[in-house]
Amino acid sequence: MKIAIIGAGAAGSICAIELKRRIPSAEVDVYEAGKRPLAKVAITGGGRCNLTNSFEGIRSLGEAYPRGEKLMKRLFRNFGHAETLRWFEDEGIRFVLQEDHCYFPASQDAMEIVNMLCLRMRQEGVRIHTGHKVSTIGREETQGYVLSFEDKPDAFADIAVVATGGCQSKSSQNMLEALGLEIVPPVPSLFSFNISDRELTALMGTVVEEASVTFAGTGFSGKGPLLITHWGLSGPAILKLSSHAARHLADKAWKGRLLVNWTGMNEQELRPMLGTLASAQSHKKISNTHPDTIPVRLWEHILRKAGAREDLRWNELGTKGLNRLVNTLLNDEYEVTGKSRFKEEFVTCGGIALQNLNPSTLETKTSPGLYFAGEVTDVDAITGGFNLQAAWTMGYTVARAIEAKAKAYSVLPG
Ligand SMILES: Cc1cc2nc3c(=O)[nH]c(=O)nc-3n(C[C@H](O)[C@H](O)[C@H](O)COP(=O)(O)OP(=O)(O)OC[C@H]3O[C@@H](n4cnc5c(N)ncnc54)[C@H](O)[C@@H]3O)c2cc1C
Repeated sequence: MKIAIIGAGAAGSICAIELKRRIPSAEVDVYEAGKRPLAKVAITGGGRCNLTNSFEGIRSLGEAYPRGEKLMKRLFRNFGHAETLRWFEDEGIRFVLQEDHCYFPASQDAMEIVNMLCLRMRQEGVRIHTGHKVSTIGREETQGYVLSFEDKPDAFADIAVVATGGCQSKSSQNMLEALGLEIVPPVPSLFSFNISDRELTALMGTVVEEASVTFAGTGFSGKGPLLITHWGLSGPAILKLSSHAARHLADKAWKGRLLVNWTGMNEQELRPMLGTLASAQSHKKISNTHPDTIPVRLWEHILRKAGAREDLRWNELGTKGLNRLVNTLLNDEYEVTGKSRFKEEFVTCGGIALQNLNPSTLETKTSPGLYFAGEVTDVDAITGGFNLQAAWTMGYTVARAIEAKAKAYSVLPG
């Protein structure tokens, strides 16, 4: 049995190792366009590799996977984060779990993961062909799958696994489109927002630990820490919003009205909190008594936007002034003018439509022996190790499914 894996990334590598362990007699060839396997994994998590998540910080999988929730739910039954950790631990990797539920290798070095996966591929007898970009995948009656390259003769395989990652380049899209499968148009996900409001960006470096952000007129929102940068807003709340609203924002050319709730509270919680502050500090200047969660320079900015004079005291605020302050704290409006790449992580929303695939095996419904794994599919997640987890799970799933297929065709004993 000849198996070709296209892409030596996270999904392709784990798939190759599992395949050789499950079907030792199979010839497994991995074709990688780049000079080295796993180049992207090497830069994940700022070079530390946020390999997975404990999933304790989310209430439902849909929170983490805006696309692919149902599929991942099904696949995690066989290979979820616990199985992934065990898989890597069996290969000698030790982990640390951070307070934010993210798992990193204890070495804090993504290269430990990369080196281990490369070594295991070699030890298991996987043939890795780097610097060879697959330009088309075809199918022939007798030869099975035919992979063509720009720089070398065609390669043939009984089974082909496409694990080429996010398909934003035109050449990737052409290769996939030629397969005749439905492709959800790829758009970027996980980015920060450009906001050309000098008063806001002057506060760069300011962090609010619990904020929420919403796109006006949509149901899309994100909660969590918010960071003011020199170009606008970033941090987990913005990244979550960018992920959940990825397609909507692409349609709007990444422009729109953003509403910021700087408090993480609702009006019913905020008013009594401000009431307590006002009565305890009634003769003091409002600008000198900011809520604990709002840094002083941001508080001054909010007061300016709410129209409160610098020397105004709490007992001079009045009902109208209080209403303006509440409204600014809960619905502070900014014009988003574009997006910026979040350097720590960015992924593609879109790819091979999930209805093309058998949800248990990730084999295409129309081309037997053709499988997809990882970000090339229409599955992507928020930050926190969820994207790599999807890649590990899908790569593992495909290997398991190919083994079952091989057994069914009596290539393997049992
Ligand atoms: C800067 C950055 C940091 C990130 N950090 C994290 C993190 O800490 N945690 C997390 O969960 N996720 C993170 N991600 C996302 C995560 O890296 C990806 O979701 C994940 O690597 C996807 O795995 P994959 O195997 O599908 O694709 P990839 O790992 O991207 O691998 C695909 C491979 O296929 C190759 N390829 C593509 N086309 C062809 C072709 N035609 N022929 C041959 N080879 C081809 C590519 O060169 C590549 O090596 C990060 C992403 C970025 C950009």
